[in-house]
Order: sequence, then C-alpha cells, then structure tokens
Amino acid sequence: MRTAVIADIHANLEALESVLAGISELGADEIVCLGDIVGYNANPNECVDIVRDRKIVSILGNHDICASGLDEPCSFNPTAERAVLWTRGVLSRENRSFLMHLPRELAIRDFYLFHGSIHDTNRYIMSKGDARENFRRLERLPGVCRIGFFGHTHVRMVLCNEQGSLSCSYPEEVLLQGVEQCLINPGSVGQPRDGDPRAAFLIYDSMERKITFHHVAYDIQKCRDKILQAGLPSHLAERLERGE
Ligand code: ZN
Repeated sequence: MRTAVIADIHANLEALESVLAGISELGADEIVCLGDIVGYNANPNECVDIVRDRKIVSILGNHDICASGLDEPCSFNPTAERAVLWTRGVLSRENRSFLMHLPRELAIRDFYLFHGSIHDTNRYIMSKGDARENFRRLERLPGVCRIGFFGHTHVRMVLCNEQGSLSCSYPEEVLLQGVEQCLINPGSVGQPRDGDPRAAFLIYDSMERKITFHHVAYDIQKCRDKILQAGLPSHLAERLERGE
C-alpha cells in the first residue's frame, strides 16, 4: 500500500494542485491529510472542494476548527486571526459543515493521524521532550499504531524511538526496519516554513517499510496575488516566497 501524506494546505490552491499532480506521477493508493485545509491563503472553498471530491481522508487542524466555528481563535496571533475570520466569512455552508464533521484524530492500519500533538490539536511537537510524551500516548492507543503522522509546525521532521533512544532528523528518506516507533511531519503543502518554498508531501510505502519526502514547485506569484486581492495581510503573501 502506498499512502501519500499531506498537511497544512492552508487554502493554497496552486500548491495543492501541484502536489496532487506530483502524487499522481509517483503513484499512490490513497491520500491522507493532517488538517489545516484552510486558513492563511485565499482559496479555502476550492481546497475543501478538492479534498471532498477526491475523497482525501482528512482530520481537523486548528485553523479548520476556528474557520468552521467549532471554536474561537483566542490563541491565534493577529495575522492568523484575521485570516481565519476572513475564511469563516467566505466558506460555503456546505464546506463549513464538511470541516465541522471531520475527526480530530484517526487510526488507519499501522499509522495514526493527528494535527499538533496526540489528544491536543493546538500543541506543537518541537522538542525531544514533546516527542517523548507523544510516543507514550501513541503506545497507549488501542491497536498497533507505530507511526504517528503530524503537521502544525509546517516543518519536515522525523523523530524515531529505538529502544528508548530518540533521534531527530530531516532526511529525504526513512527506512522503518528496526524502528519501534516514529513521529513524522511531511512539511506543509500551502505555507512551508523550513526555508524551502516548494510544496511538501511524503509517500509511505507499507510493503517496503519506507517513507520518502518530496517537494514540488508551484505558481507562488499567482497565490500571492490572490492573497493581496482578497485583502488578507500582505505578510502572508511575502512569506510564501521565503518558505518561512
Ligand atoms: Zn497549519
């Protein structure tokens, strides 16, 4: 089984289309999304439509929660708050309802999907301490999930637990043989923050027990222009080119 894992689309239609073209070139049996379909960029309805129509299995991100009205963006910075309230105003009723009914977390075969941290959508995994806590939570889940896929930081990251010793890296490829547990972030489709402005995703091949990371270029200029035309904060347009 080949699973494409995408995260943090953030209403960036150009990036999402490029990623889906990249995935179909590489070949995948299914696509899963780690939340934050909307927020920040200017095409929330178009991106939700694609996720629905393509039957991409998705969970809720913190921006989806606030844009759909499930919660208020109390902990958001002013730019993110402005963008999420703009998104709430333009989302169609159908798309708002679609977002509201997404699960917060999801177990699929041997892997687990969550947005920020296990049982806490808003918390980031940044350090080995954060990872240790999430490895413990992964272990306590029913079933046999040894891999946790997460988003939220918009930074590609691999955390492995091998006999209690933790390692953190940013490789192009991960071989899972011998790895007890791992937590993996594919990077962001629509607002990468790891210095590479290209849209990011990964492919998990369960037969080969291998994960490969990929980046694809997209029309940043077009996305930028739409952000400015929509009256969203200009900082959101500028950061896309720098990948930060
Ligand atoms: Zn996000």
